[in-house]
Amino acid sequence: MAETIDEPATSGLASRIAASTRVPAACALERDQIVHARVRTLAPVLAVLTLGWIVLDAAVLRPADVARIASLRIAIAAALMLIARMPRRLPAPVMLRAFVWVQALGFGAMQLLLRPMDIAGEVGYGLFPFVIAAQLALFPAPWTQTLRDAIAPATSLALVFLWRHAALGPADWRDIWLLVLLTALAAWTAQAQLRLLVDLLGARREAAQDALTGLANRRTLDVRLAAEHERVRRHGDPLSVLMLDLDFFKRVNDEHGHAAGDRVLAAAAGALADELRAIDLGARFGGEEFCAMLPETPLDDALRVAERIRRRIGAMQTDFGGKAIPVTVSIGAAQLAEGETIGSLLARTDAALYEAKRGGRNRCVAAPAPGDAAA
Ligand code: GH3
Ligand code: MG
Ligand code: MG
Repeated sequence: MAETIDEPATSGLASRIAASTRVPAACALERDQIVHARVRTLAPVLAVLTLGWIVLDAAVLRPADVARIASLRIAIAAALMLIARMPRRLPAPVMLRAFVWVQALGFGAMQLLLRPMDIAGEVGYGLFPFVIAAQLALFPAPWTQTLRDAIAPATSLALVFLWRHAALGPADWRDIWLLVLLTALAAWTAQAQLRLLVDLLGARREAAQDALTGLANRRTLDVRLAAEHERVRRHGDPLSVLMLDLDFFKRVNDEHGHAAGDRVLAAAAGALADELRAIDLGARFGGEEFCAMLPETPLDDALRVAERIRRRIGAMQTDFGGKAIPVTVSIGAAQLAEGETIGSLLARTDAALYEAKRGGRNRCVAAPAPGDAAA
């Protein structure tokens, strides 16, 4: 499997080149998914084309050879179908390598069988090394990996030369030149695809995050809440939500300045994120308000989490210019009721938060169930 690297080195040509030979960790998963998906699509298509070619074989080859070539084609098609069904946990580079080598060796062997017939070469049976090299452009990969995979088509071309005759003629040099050119283009394209993927995923991450706190932004929260709502509707798991609002935050800004306020906000967000589980989602709801989505959590447990967060933020002493800035938080908690919409859940959570503020701040309040609220 290709190695991954956490951060691309930015200084110096040598380190930039070294970084370009690895799959950046930030896109490794998506890169593997793309390679898997493309091999899964391409391999069956090639298998069908290979089998379909038997009709053409019948038209151009000697009848005695048609059966031999047909059995080889069936073997190649079967191998391609096997690769298309490889388990997903198999490393993508291994899958890709199997895909190109099956073609290189399979069609190389076919060339050997066709050797006595010049006609076959003339109607395009000798094109497969170039087709394989061109395929490599479809897979985002470091250029070094593409070059390694290009050994497959190069090997099959070399074997063809070996079988055909001893000395290389002008036509052979043309073939070598074409293969080198296609390989270089494929390596460049594969590397460019990788670069594009890194940029795209970076932009996607940024679009989903709040810049100041690094928490999910409102849009991400809405999407996740909607998905979780759908899951709850099907499986009936409890879903709770917390709404947090820092107390007297205007004072922090007024007394210490906006930059200090920003520092406190980021620290509170960090504390919130720290207290949540991996399946939870902490988001900046807006201003100095945060929201936490707690899947598979009934109200009692949500309240315990809220209490933990409240104490943690209350104990925080954010340092700004040598001064420790304290802050407290009020939290409202609510559990999604049966048949309730997300809008109503958030409104109830907000009402509980308002109660916490009214009750003196620096406290957690659980929202009553929708029916009880009116009472
Ligand atoms: P309370 O919630 O306890 O009622 O009082 P508060 O002072 O926190 O009330 P309010 O919600 O009215 O004020 C929120 C303040 O948060 C106002 C705004 O200046 C500040 N704020 C909102 N977003 C940011 C931000 O991104 N950075 C900083 N530094 N301050 C922000
Ligand atoms: Mg506030
Ligand atoms: Mg507020």
